[in-house]
Amino acid sequence: MNDCIFCKIARGEIPGKKVYEDEELFAFHDINPVAPVHFMLIPKLHVASLMEVDNSHAALLGKMLVLAPKLAKEQGLNNGFRTVINTGKGGGQEVFHLHIHIIGGGNIPPMVRRD
Ligand code: AMP
Ligand code: ZN
Repeated sequence: MNDCIFCKIARGEIPGKKVYEDEELFAFHDINPVAPVHFMLIPKLHVASLMEVDNSHAALLGKMLVLAPKLAKEQGLNNGFRTVINTGKGGGQEVFHLHIHIIGGGNIPPMVRRD
């Protein structure tokens, strides 16, 4: 997927504030943060959303979840953090490359407003 913005960030073709990189994963700060710390963890493999995953992605997804708290702590989120995965139009997803938002460092409101 050459025109995918997150693929381009992971390849270094457009600028991103890198948090972490290995062979399979990439993390970078959100351009429009909703809290003092807000970064995204993505697979380098282009997967559009959680709707597209299957068993072949299980190890990759596990690796992402294991890495998330490590990176969160490195970013100073020792007291906890929120992880968000928006999936599909119905889940409010805007960028169709699977990503985990890792958010924290401020007053995190309830996840869903009930009013
Ligand atoms: P989502 O609604 O889960 O698809 O979230 C997409 C997120 O990507 C939003 O929080 C945007 O602020 C963020 N975003 C969009 N473009 C960029 C970019 N070029 N660099 C960093 N973050 C971005
Ligand atoms: Zn992509």
